[in-house]
Amino acid sequence: MAQVYFEEIQVKSVINRVQAPNMGLKWTINPYRGCQHACVYCFARKYHLELGYNPGLDFNTRIIVKTNAPKVAREQLRSPGWRHETILLGAACDPWQQAEARYGITREIVKALLAHQNPLSILTKSTLILRDADLLAALARVAEVQVNFSVGTLDEEVWKNVEPETPKPSKRLEAMGELVKLGVPAGVMLAPIIPGLSDAPASIEAVIRAAAEHGANHVSPVTLHLRPGAKEWFMPFLRETYPYLEPRYARLYKGAYAPAEYTQAVARTVEELKRKWGFANRQRRAPCQAQPRGQLALAL
Ligand code: SF4
Repeated sequence: MAQVYFEEIQVKSVINRVQAPNMGLKWTINPYRGCQHACVYCFARKYHLELGYNPGLDFNTRIIVKTNAPKVAREQLRSPGWRHETILLGAACDPWQQAEARYGITREIVKALLAHQNPLSILTKSTLILRDADLLAALARVAEVQVNFSVGTLDEEVWKNVEPETPKPSKRLEAMGELVKLGVPAGVMLAPIIPGLSDAPASIEAVIRAAAEHGANHVSPVTLHLRPGAKEWFMPFLRETYPYLEPRYARLYKGAYAPAEYTQAVARTVEELKRKWGFANRQRRAPCQAQPRGQLALAL
């Protein structure tokens, strides 16, 4: 694994506005910039360009750490103008990525949210979240909490290729199950569904079935999108690792999104399988069930 560098910075604001009125969520916290999980498709790669770093290896190895984020979060939560709206933790980087084991910033932010009984939505691939299960369970007793584990496939070869530094998908599902047992509402973001790698009905069903068996209270699909910044990193990977898929991607990803007829067919398959595995009666609202063009994108 490549050497990782941590760049500690101070920020003036940590609860930041997301321009996504249709998503029902306006606020996000990202304690870090860059992500050691190194997913090849990550849309947040483009943000590293703003820092003068490349969206490839630098994104995974130059981690910006907002060391005063807990203090600033406490100040913002105390502000008379704050209306206790739901905050999405992890929209553009994983808040429980490896750096969090060293810095503990996310844990302090969750403590601040608990002190203010502030609703929280989480998106993560990390089992490190279990370290903070006590806080999340306490928060879930007094405010709306929803944890979303991103799991796009259970296929180990595909997982290792596309999400090389993430916890194994089966471990993520176990972590989700632990949270559910503790009373923390949690489910699966079936994401990203990658054409040719994880879009076969059998692959989708394996995730939905495992989600059901681990007590997920929702499953929400998101098909792969390739925005500028991510596309330049993903396509060489595809060419190198799955060259037979290149012509198909040239047809599907003329822009950032696959055509509606493809995404709608995937969505139909997911809905059918969700019904089969009993999700029709336990569906809860997920923070972002789709990726409408021009709207909020999540680092899945
Ligand atoms: S998709 Fe999520 S977990 Fe993967 S690198 Fe991006 S922010 Fe990290």
